Parts: sequence; C-alpha cells; structure tokens
Amino acid sequence: MAIRKCPACLTTAPMGAVVAFTNDFVCAGCGQHLEVSEASRVLAAAIGIAAGYLAVSTAPPAYSTLGWAVPVLFGLLAYGCVSALILMASADLRLIPAPTQPSVAETPAAHGAHH
Ligand SMILES: [Zn+2]
Repeated sequence: MAIRKCPACLTTAPMGAVVAFTNDFVCAGCGQHLEVSEASRVLAAAIGIAAGYLAVSTAPPAYSTLGWAVPVLFGLLAYGCVSALILMASADLRLIPAPTQPSVAETPAAHGAHH
C-alpha cells in the first residue's frame, strides 16, 4: 500500500494535508483532488478511541485542582495524537472527482479540447 502517495502521479502528500483535510485536498503534483480512503480513516479512529480509553483508565487519579478534567484531557489528547499518527503512517489516498464549482466551471482548458 502506498502511504500518502497520489495514485495518479505518485507525489507524496504532506502529512499536514492528510491529517487536516482527509475529505478533500489537492495533490501538489498533478492538481487532482484526493481523499484519505475509508479504511485508513476507520483504522485511525478506532485505534485513537482505544488509545483515548486506555489513557482515561490510566490517567493519574483526579486528586489535583483540575479534578475530573484531568482524565478527560488525557483521553482527548491521546485520541487526537494517536489517530493523527495512524493517519500519517497509514493514509491510503484515492482520487475523487473535483467538487463542482459554478464560478470556475467554464475554464479555457475545457474549450481547448476541441482542437
Ligand atoms: Zn497527484
């Protein structure tokens, strides 16, 4: 499985783009729209939730001034960090059709196809 590679031009997508824009981002190499495949996202979320659950149960006892917020914070941080790391490590990209944008639908390139 090609990790973070565009299936069309094999350009490796930046980690930030993969993690921040899993639904739709533009390939730096060929300009086509990509998304992180369902399997990678489900995997990242599942492992993230498991890590969050683990962090909540192993967080230090809530005797500090922050009280109940500590385990919750641990869980959220663990979920966010782990799911992002799994996405970075396993993101399998696929091409998606570009979103329809009426303002840029009439491009010169579309008319050039006739010649
Ligand atoms: Zn590409």
